[in-house]
Amino acid sequence: MPDLDVVVVGGGILGLASAYYIKSLHGELSVAVIERGRDVGQGNTARSVGGYRQGIFTSYVNRVLAETTIQHLREAEASGETSLNMREVGYLILLDDNRLKNVETVVETFLKEGKAILLNPETLSEKLHMRTDFTGDEEAMLMGLSNIKAGLFAPRCGFLDVEKVVNLYKKRCIDVGVELILGKRVEKLLLEPENPLGIPREPRAWQKVRVAGVVADGEVIKAGKVVVATGSWTPQLLDPLGVDCFIKAKKRQLFVISAEGELQRLLTNTWDGGRPMPMMFFPNGLYIVPRMSDKAFWVSLTDEFGRGFGLDDEPEPSYYLDNVYPPLVKYYPQFLNARPSSMWAGTYSMNYLDGNPLIFRFLNCLVVTGASGSGVMKSDAIGRIAEAALFGKEYAMLHGGVKFEVSRLGVENRRVDKEYFIL
Ligand SMILES: Cc1cc2nc3c(=O)[nH]c(=O)nc-3n(C[C@H](O)[C@H](O)[C@H](O)COP(=O)(O)OP(=O)(O)OC[C@H]3O[C@@H](n4cnc5c(N)ncnc54)[C@H](O)[C@@H]3O)c2cc1C
Repeated sequence: MPDLDVVVVGGGILGLASAYYIKSLHGELSVAVIERGRDVGQGNTARSVGGYRQGIFTSYVNRVLAETTIQHLREAEASGETSLNMREVGYLILLDDNRLKNVETVVETFLKEGKAILLNPETLSEKLHMRTDFTGDEEAMLMGLSNIKAGLFAPRCGFLDVEKVVNLYKKRCIDVGVELILGKRVEKLLLEPENPLGIPREPRAWQKVRVAGVVADGEVIKAGKVVVATGSWTPQLLDPLGVDCFIKAKKRQLFVISAEGELQRLLTNTWDGGRPMPMMFFPNGLYIVPRMSDKAFWVSLTDEFGRGFGLDDEPEPSYYLDNVYPPLVKYYPQFLNARPSSMWAGTYSMNYLDGNPLIFRFLNCLVVTGASGSGVMKSDAIGRIAEAALFGKEYAMLHGGVKFEVSRLGVENRRVDKEYFIL
């Protein structure tokens, strides 16, 4: 294979968006994506819910990355370039006393800015048919569930078809001339001396080095620059080089419950003058995604302590029974005896310091990772920032002409503000 100018390792949504912006802004360069799967977008991108959030972030970085991306996707849809099936059903964040106390000022700001409205428990039970009052329910008390005091409804949030976002960037990549090399696993990054001396065991510790390319299924693929966009698997390529990428993989699982009988009525319920059921986020990490198109609910519960780090992505039926089902049936008794018809798991590439993506350079390499549970909704912005970072630009131009300082998401001079509204 002839030498390439840029190799992007990993064909998830972030690798694709990065490759697209690199090639479209540097048409003279040869750019390839190397993906070990049989197609692009089959890693954790394919496990995503496709949820997107607008208006209800406190952190500037989150807001800018998500909102410019969603606006970009919306315009791509409006122009007829793609159809992403964006369903703006809204996010409903249920607040008990404890959660309300923690986010009170943030909620006030969202309300003042008109980003969300507050629903009282009566509306939640009458219109959305959920149980909000656990008074006298000893079991609920033992489980630590407390009464829902309010629901914060943010109408500009929803979910989209992730596969279609992948296809959009895949097509864009092909159209601008990015080569997609599929079914090839990169075993390692190839470290070489900048000035080879032709002596054995180079590079020696005293030599200046660069990443000269990658070794993929035994084949050496030389490249001028390498972008590592392997999501949760990034440490596998960087640890052997002694480069820290500051992320750990954490398993997240989804369970599909077919909507039959009472659940079908719940799924097709409308409220507030015809709105469909929103995505719902409960205080203990439980969330429910109503999927009219699949006639099903997707349910999940985010666990932190006790869930070890690792790349295992086998779904656990017992996790549903032990952890998801008990609170689910308390908030929504309509789920009584509901069992998943299918399930899957993936891993978040988590940066536990500040929860934000990492886009940083070392030698002639760029690392793009750490998008945790929001990589799809931030993908366009991350792709543009990756291009700017790879070419040493100070600013990336995001959708709508928003200027973003690239160093904010780097390692040195990193500047990300804390997100106070974590779902
Ligand atoms: C259960 C779940 C729900 C989620 N829900 C949402 C949501 O609602 N909204 C949202 O925005 N985000 C969500 N996310 C997060 C989102 O899926 C990720 O942030 C995003 O997909 C990350 O993209 P990526 O390209 O970094 O990773 P990936 O899609 O995992 O891509 C990495 C790619 O690298 C490839 N690869 C790895 N190692 C090698 C190698 N050595 N050689 C070649 N190829 C390699 C893999 O095969 C993979 O295709 C969710 C994630 C999970 C797991």
